[in-house]
Amino acid sequence: MSILDKLNIEQKKAAETLEGPLLILAGAGSGKTRTITYRIAYMIEEVGISPYKILAMTFTNKAAKEMRERVESLIGDEGKKTMISTFHSFGVRLLRIYGDKLGYNSNFTIYDGDDQKKVIKTILKELVVTDKGLTEAMIASRISKLKEDGITPGEYEIKNKFDNNFKIVSEVYKRYNVALKNNNGMDFSDILVNTLELLNKQEILEKLQDKFQYIMVDEYQDTNNIQYQIINKLAAKYKNLCVVGDENQSIYGFRGANIKNILDFEKDYPNAKIIKLEENYRSTACILDAANAVIKNNASSRDKKLWTQKCKGDLINLKNCQDGRDEVNFVLEEIIKEKKAGRSYKDFTILYRTNAQSRLFEEGLLKFNIPYKIFGGMQFYQRAEIKDILAYLSVINNYLDNVNLTRIINVPKRKIGDKTLEKILNYSKEKGISLYEALGELENIGLTPSVKIALGEFYTLMEELREISLEGSVSELFDKLISGVGYFSYLRNLYGLEGDSRIENVEELKNSIVELEKMVEYLSLREYLENVSLVSATDELDGERDYVKLMTIHNSKGLEFPVVFLVGTEDEIFPGTTKVMLNREELEEERRLCYVAITRAEEKLYISYANSRYLYGDMSYRTKSRFIEEIPMELLNEERKKIVEKQSPVKGFKNFIKIDKIQELNLPYKIGEKIIHKKFGLGKIVGINEKKIEIQFVDGKREIALALADKFITKD
Ligand code: ATP
Ligand code: MG
Repeated sequence: MSILDKLNIEQKKAAETLEGPLLILAGAGSGKTRTITYRIAYMIEEVGISPYKILAMTFTNKAAKEMRERVESLIGDEGKKTMISTFHSFGVRLLRIYGDKLGYNSNFTIYDGDDQKKVIKTILKELVVTDKGLTEAMIASRISKLKEDGITPGEYEIKNKFDNNFKIVSEVYKRYNVALKNNNGMDFSDILVNTLELLNKQEILEKLQDKFQYIMVDEYQDTNNIQYQIINKLAAKYKNLCVVGDENQSIYGFRGANIKNILDFEKDYPNAKIIKLEENYRSTACILDAANAVIKNNASSRDKKLWTQKCKGDLINLKNCQDGRDEVNFVLEEIIKEKKAGRSYKDFTILYRTNAQSRLFEEGLLKFNIPYKIFGGMQFYQRAEIKDILAYLSVINNYLDNVNLTRIINVPKRKIGDKTLEKILNYSKEKGISLYEALGELENIGLTPSVKIALGEFYTLMEELREISLEGSVSELFDKLISGVGYFSYLRNLYGLEGDSRIENVEELKNSIVELEKMVEYLSLREYLENVSLVSATDELDGERDYVKLMTIHNSKGLEFPVVFLVGTEDEIFPGTTKVMLNREELEEERRLCYVAITRAEEKLYISYANSRYLYGDMSYRTKSRFIEEIPMELLNEERKKIVEKQSPVKGFKNFIKIDKIQELNLPYKIGEKIIHKKFGLGKIVGINEKKIEIQFVDGKREIALALADKFITKD
């Protein structure tokens, strides 16, 4: 008996091909992930390769966790010794060891999107930028992109020196980097960029090349340029690189993923072996045929045959709904019906194109008392009370972390206003020390006695907690922290009744720590924080609990579910969320997304669209997605609603009109006009005055300075 007996012939061949570059190219559900999992187990158990020599990269922490568990279930504890992780976790591990080579302490803090925005906000204040058209979020994403494209602030400035906006961005970029470095912090892009920088150091690279002699990468089609370089540098010496992917599932182009990485694998490694897997084990024939029919419209799709031994199964249920609410009712009715017929709630997953679409469903599920969980929406770890506690823990772990210290210095209230903070900040700058260190020198800062006392108490408490963090467990520290700062009474005072649910959240956080502590021999504060910072949208997915899942299609990557509802399948939503005029490449990426959505379903697939829906703050009439038209009729079981009389489209956005004398102002834009914003895509003008216009985009409203409007928007 071999471990590989549970694979088919092609999969087995892939698992047995260990030396040299190998590309496993195959469609959804063909067992790519399964093949690399078994391959790892086989290498260790049957070939005798040391588990320490193997490195497997996956796309999400959840995928990594599943793979680890699977390998362990196949070969036991030996499997634990293999590094199976995401690019980010891998990078963090390396940087904890070698970060000092780049000027970081090993207990650096990882900053998330929120933290990034805070840093940028402070810098914009310093620079006295009041331009509302330039949001922190915009700059943050621009900076991430620049970093991941390997463009330094200096290079960026030179390229774009004639444009004022670019000047601001490059100045912010420069200061942002300095601020993060001073805080001993890294954002997510830094983790990747710095990992690559470590690999540019010959002695480190050689060490790692000799350590990881066998490398595997799942979802290779979605690697970006930096990830590509990390992998190919690591593999350059032994060239035992096995990459697995499906170019039809490349859906992160908008975030810099480069589909060429997989398409060019044979160019990168001319002697690469290529194995194709063609049998799908996941979905019924009907679902698979639909997926194949859609994707074949992509010119960039290589011809891949996918077949299944599974029976045809139910036809795909296509439902035409009156409006958004009708669609929710339809989905809920089906869930209730199928539940009665014997399914559990956890069998159902609702997939949509954008997070904003979840709200109606959430309302409906609440009303019907159906347990549900939204993945990727407002995350547990993004809640204010959770972020407060984590900010405390971060400062305890890394006293250079000004960002988190600023968050908690007046939580609970310690009478520390902006003025005081500025004083301390100035002092710390003068002395070249961190904010926290400055708190140790309160005498010299010139503060009022009452503030000095309050800060002195805070500092003493923090010092005590720092002490505990070095000796005790994280859960012990947690308890002392909560009681020491009186956090629960703070929540009660601030939020009244709602405080209780916030307290429950904090308790839930404690539970998660205790759980983690049970799993590892010793959990240090640093490891704990690392674990939390790297939690991504789908990681919270808990297969055991019985609830309906809701997520964007992006978040569903690599997963499978018995019953899938693909909702809001209408033109201008899917495809076309961000722009009306998609160019061919964008359209193809949307189509790949559709392919991913369809291929998540194992047994049953529902696709729905509405005749009308509130969109961009306006009631709009909808047409079904062109992707639906690409599915052959004979695979569909269609139920249509009669289209109702047209209502005046003005009705919807009337509420948004801000001032009534717009005509008198003779402005270049009008309420109700559709526009396209360079960054946010399609929107509709819903408010206007002499200074700014308010625009409703798919994911919310934004204000833009009128003076800058024509720089960013064009009329549709
Ligand atoms: P995706 O492209 O969506 O990531 P994938 O190619 O990675 O899919 P897997 O998730 O590995 O596919 O496999 C899909 C399903 O088929 C899983 O439930 C897996 O256990 C099952 N499967 C794959 N190969 C076999 C096999 N040889 N025998 C039995 N089941 C299999
Ligand atoms: Mg997979």
